[in-house]
Amino acid sequence: MNSLPIWLLQVSRTEQITPHMARITLTSEDLRGFSLKEADQQVKLYFPRHGQPRPLLPEATESTDLMSWYQAYSAIPENERPWMRSYTIRAHDPATDSISFDFVLHQHAGPATQWAINAKEGDLLGAFGPTDYFARPKALSASVDEADWVLLAGDDAAIPGMATIIESLPAGKRAFAFVEIQDAADEQSFHTDGDLTTTWLHRGAAEPGHSDALARAIRAAELPEGNGFAWLAGEAGAVRQLRRHLTDERGLPKQTIDFSGYWRLKLTQDDAPTAEDLAEAQERLAEAQAAQSG
Ligand SMILES: Cc1cc2nc3c(=O)[nH]c(=O)nc-3n(C[C@H](O)[C@H](O)[C@H](O)COP(=O)(O)OP(=O)(O)OC[C@H]3O[C@@H](n4cnc5c(N)ncnc54)[C@H](O)[C@@H]3O)c2cc1C
Repeated sequence: MNSLPIWLLQVSRTEQITPHMARITLTSEDLRGFSLKEADQQVKLYFPRHGQPRPLLPEATESTDLMSWYQAYSAIPENERPWMRSYTIRAHDPATDSISFDFVLHQHAGPATQWAINAKEGDLLGAFGPTDYFARPKALSASVDEADWVLLAGDDAAIPGMATIIESLPAGKRAFAFVEIQDAADEQSFHTDGDLTTTWLHRGAAEPGHSDALARAIRAAELPEGNGFAWLAGEAGAVRQLRRHLTDERGLPKQTIDFSGYWRLKLTQDDAPTAEDLAEAQERLAEAQAAQSG
């Protein structure tokens, strides 16, 4: 028995849903009784090193606490330690005890993307989460409920999280989604009870992270009166720019913006945080403390 939300998952299905997106469905007996409390649930995925049939993860028993598990993980020699990357649960199917992830197949493919490109039925992957360790100071559904309108903006990597939010919108909730992708072939359809307007922005020949299509569209967007809630995800520099625009030029209060730098130009998820990453982490900590004391 394992007290931590650590799972060993087995690929049951792979699908190419658009030219740059693969949907991988994984199943595990451990997922029996599992349920998703909220939209936009992130997990850490653990990818086996080359030649390993499964990710080499430390055992967790009922008494294992997170810190000692993570220390044991970090103590695995680097060339054997599974790569860790963040992904969003796109869907959960309790009937088959399975969860799906949508992987962007980007051109600088690191270990996660390589794994997704080659994934086949039976392959094994480790996962940690969803867990309250990644919880927001305020539940996403509460932020959406309180807002008169919702703005969702991001690049390809943001689509899975954005789609789960769109699917969970209350009936009639006004929402505006701005999504930057390469071209029309990467567009997807969303099902929602909300009153959704989606704007697909094609970056064409520009590489992800090098296009200003999303920033220009948000600057030009006519947003309604009333209280807005914004959710931003994608390349970290682009997300920072959007957030600055919304706070400084549109007057959105910081606490009404949920933002996440999903990936960093020319840096992998193994690379150390930049000064800007650290400043943001400080800000989040202060926000969480303020929410706790308030
Ligand atoms: C909370 C959270 C949730 C996320 N959910 C998802 C999800 O559901 N689906 C998803 O596809 N991604 C998601 N991401 C983003 C994903 O974790 C990163 O893209 C990750 O870096 C991919 O790992 P990799 O091993 O392919 O590349 P890395 O080894 O991390 O990086 C290798 C190179 O690829 C570049 N790169 C990394 N990601 C991208 C990208 N998306 N587009 C273009 N270039 C890139 C880097 O700049 C680097 O040069 C999420 C990130 C976070 C923080």
